[in-house]
Amino acid sequence: MSSVLGTYARKPISFKEGVGTYLIAENGEKYLDFVQGIGTNILGHCHPHLVKKINEQSKKLWHVSNAFIIPEQEKLAKRLTDNTFADFVCFQNSGTEATEASIKIARKYFHKIGKPEKNRIITFKGAFHGRTLAALFAANNPKHTEGFGPKVDGFDQVPFGDHEAIKKAINKNTAAIMVETIMGEGGIKVVPEYCIQGLRKMCDEHDLLLILDEVQCAYRTGNFFAFEKSGITPDIVPIAKGIGGGFPLGACLVTKKVSAGMTAGTHGSTFGGNPLAMAAGNAVLDVILEKGFLNNVEKKGKYFDQGLNKIKNKFPKIIEEVRGIGLIKGIKMLVDNAEFIQKLMKHKMLAIKAEENVIRLFPPLIVNNNELDEAIIKIEKVCEEVS
Ligand SMILES: *Cc1c(COP(=O)(O)O)cnc(C)c1O
Repeated sequence: MSSVLGTYARKPISFKEGVGTYLIAENGEKYLDFVQGIGTNILGHCHPHLVKKINEQSKKLWHVSNAFIIPEQEKLAKRLTDNTFADFVCFQNSGTEATEASIKIARKYFHKIGKPEKNRIITFKGAFHGRTLAALFAANNPKHTEGFGPKVDGFDQVPFGDHEAIKKAINKNTAAIMVETIMGEGGIKVVPEYCIQGLRKMCDEHDLLLILDEVQCAYRTGNFFAFEKSGITPDIVPIAKGIGGGFPLGACLVTKKVSAGMTAGTHGSTFGGNPLAMAAGNAVLDVILEKGFLNNVEKKGKYFDQGLNKIKNKFPKIIEEVRGIGLIKGIKMLVDNAEFIQKLMKHKMLAIKAEENVIRLFPPLIVNNNELDEAIIKIEKVCEEVS
């Protein structure tokens, strides 16, 4: 019997090695890995540049307190702000800490400008913001919150895509609207560009902050961030998952205006932004910021889309819809997603489910067209089997 607390329904398999897009099981069998640690190994397993950079850093310095200046942290923050809307970054160790920081920063901003009554945040049904208490009750998914009361107050939830409901939910206590640009756990639901623009407009009209949770979709869509296509500027953006390339790393990006209340002592993290994590984050950026790299991600995403849509058209009773942008994809199934994933595993391919009967696919950004073809062939084979 396992001594690990049983909070996961684990598949009876483990792996001994990862190489790029593939995982090698204990018994030596090779799997095409489109789970990639739920999108965290954004450059695949053991990318040589990450291995080198983490190795180098591990011989110099792992951890120092945030009581001191950490040059590796300064460097990553500078690169993240140079390439985005943000003026400041604070580093965490995970996605849920990054969304918690976002909530704190939004509230502190209004406190700072003399409007402390503005402390409630509008969130959306089907959202996921992590597993700490505030993040849990922000998303308010009954499957996740049951038994974990009392409820953390401060969130007003509205149905996804219902502009009228959002308008109605806004009152004198509203501080911010928080939404994932692409709802990941919710089923890779892309918030359309006009909706993101509409939310920005609403926030401007009512003096609210716009928090775009890009923990799952950052770096994956062919742009640095998924919201960039909509042309708007958010106020706060939490990121994590892929940004450390598999090393635990989260960050919260903010504008100068919104950062006003976050002075010394207002927030902290023992591990957040330590030199080893920063080496990982900087190594990921070295690759992502190479000229043409993100362009290529967009191209590969389109190629994958075409292949997936071909299968959808061939098996309209099995696949309802192909979702996602770039290399974050969801297939909404008309047959049971979990059973389909089980069958894919028999064909040595790994995928992971999401809400709305969706199968999520996270090809690493270094994936090549042959590997995408391999995935398409395997998915098609399982479609043939179940039809
Ligand atoms: C995964 C996820 C989180 C939580 O991240 P952890 O690293 O698991 O704490 C928060 N928001 C979104 C959108 C996520 O996908």
